[in-house]
Amino acid sequence: MTNPRYDIAVIGGGPAGMLAAGMAAQNGAKVILLEKNEQLGKKLLLSGKGRCNITTAEEDPTTVIEAFGKNGKFLYSALHEFSVQDTINFFNQLGVATKIERGQRVFPVSDQALDVLRALTNWLKEQKVRVVTGCTVIKLVKVGRQIEKVKSSRGDFFAGKFIITTGGQAASFTGSSGDGYAWAKKLGHQIVPPVPSLVPVRTKDAWVKDLQGLSLKNVRISIYQSLKKHDERFGDALFTHFGLSGPIILDMSKKIGTLLANGSVELRIDLKPALDFPQLDARIQRDLKKMSNKAFKNSLAELLPQKLIPVIVRMSGIDPEKKANNITKEERNKLLHLLKELRTHVSSLLGHEKAIVTAGGIELKELDPRTMRSKLINNLYFAGEIIDLDGPTGGYNLQMCWSTGYLAGTSAAL
Ligand SMILES: Cc1cc2nc3c(=O)[nH]c(=O)nc-3n(C[C@H](O)[C@H](O)[C@H](O)COP(=O)(O)OP(=O)(O)OC[C@H]3O[C@@H](n4cnc5c(N)ncnc54)[C@H](O)[C@@H]3O)c2cc1C
Repeated sequence: MTNPRYDIAVIGGGPAGMLAAGMAAQNGAKVILLEKNEQLGKKLLLSGKGRCNITTAEEDPTTVIEAFGKNGKFLYSALHEFSVQDTINFFNQLGVATKIERGQRVFPVSDQALDVLRALTNWLKEQKVRVVTGCTVIKLVKVGRQIEKVKSSRGDFFAGKFIITTGGQAASFTGSSGDGYAWAKKLGHQIVPPVPSLVPVRTKDAWVKDLQGLSLKNVRISIYQSLKKHDERFGDALFTHFGLSGPIILDMSKKIGTLLANGSVELRIDLKPALDFPQLDARIQRDLKKMSNKAFKNSLAELLPQKLIPVIVRMSGIDPEKKANNITKEERNKLLHLLKELRTHVSSLLGHEKAIVTAGGIELKELDPRTMRSKLINNLYFAGEIIDLDGPTGGYNLQMCWSTGYLAGTSAAL
């Protein structure tokens, strides 16, 4: 039996594909959504550690755009058509109540990504989108300057227009294995080389392993190359068995990756960013005085988390048994520098499997930002992570998917 012809076929049932399919149908098109997994939105379910950081509460579109770096301006139309507030309203109307947490992060009140996914799949049903899961698209067949059909593991599907929303390559076990890049390339599109972004870093120093599991709250981490500071962030980080992770490391990973291509990269951790050198020195002196009869190794409990103390004591070179009141100024100075500039050296970024998003993708110059339509193929659109846009943590990446998915779906339905 041959499949009926659709107005629009959307390939990839992640956040961008679901929004595109639903919006196209809401605007009157006959839509089919093809997804290779047995369920839609597998990555969405993992997002925000299973809680789904739906978007950011940052309402100023310029700030949202700037968060995406130099490519961000591509998003002006998409964010104008479907803003952060539109996203929040959309989910609220679908029955997902939202709340704002630290860092302007918007989550469902239920803390369940599953509720976000269920709301979307119910909406797709209401809009009468035909969803075909377990359907791997193999290729797009072009006739002249138009895509005619897709070939898939479930047969051929014909449509008037096609929207590719197959995602990037991050966490490919969720289905996003980069298939869309190959199709786009074959169709003549340029692909900015996909690299992992928002990804933890591997470090060279053995002491880091002793700290695995230790989370650092409110620290400042600076990136150095050849003694020059290239970036710094304030916030939370996490020591792991391979190196460092946590929000500020993930957000700086793109920069670290770029610098690593040119040479070695050093991270300097300021464990006490609220105190400058003289203030911290005064604090250390006070602590050592208070603990005057204690061994040095037992005198840092008020200053540092327990797990960090043996590492800092070892690195300071100070005799751990030395009485606190016998520590010399020179020794104190060493300690001071360790606390303000704990240095570790990056060996590499972890790969796509451990990344949150992919940087790179479909070259934006070949897409119309007002419609998401390909400038090369008349009836082809792209949306979501497959395009050359990636933002920081905090709901920005999903917002990009909602906005570009919305725009692709509504404009393809015209
Ligand atoms: C662990 C983790 C946590 C995250 N947390 C957040 C968060 O809290 N907030 C945030 O903003 N962002 C978060 N992100 C990023 C966000 O989830 C992604 O940016 C977003 O899912 C991308 O959406 P997409 O629709 O473009 O692609 P995807 O979600 O990757 O969906 C693409 C879909 O296409 C399907 N597909 C691929 N190839 C084919 C094919 N050949 N045939 C048919 N179907 C195909 C895939 O199976 C997949 O379902 C997180 C990412 C990860 C990995």
